[in-house]
Amino acid sequence: MGIFRRRERTEVAEAAVVDVRAETELDLRDESTPPVAVWGMPSRCPACGDFGYLDRIDVVNDLMFQHCPTCWHKWETHRSETTSSA
Ligand SMILES: [Zn+2]
Repeated sequence: MGIFRRRERTEVAEAAVVDVRAETELDLRDESTPPVAVWGMPSRCPACGDFGYLDRIDVVNDLMFQHCPTCWHKWETHRSETTSSA
């Protein structure tokens, strides 16, 4: 009887740990969903929020150079700040 009870408690504890990890992953995705930039695609202007215009891509330094046609703000986005589309 004593051994059976110990196994039961271990299984419950493992299931609880898995649930916590799954919820943490979902929370991180929710936070990063709105401002996600896609590599090779124009992103939103950080100054006014309008659509940006992708001027060029520096493949050596992994940088995207963009400007905003609305307010003429210019900005650079490193590849590490983006996700790949495919
Ligand atoms: Zn702008």
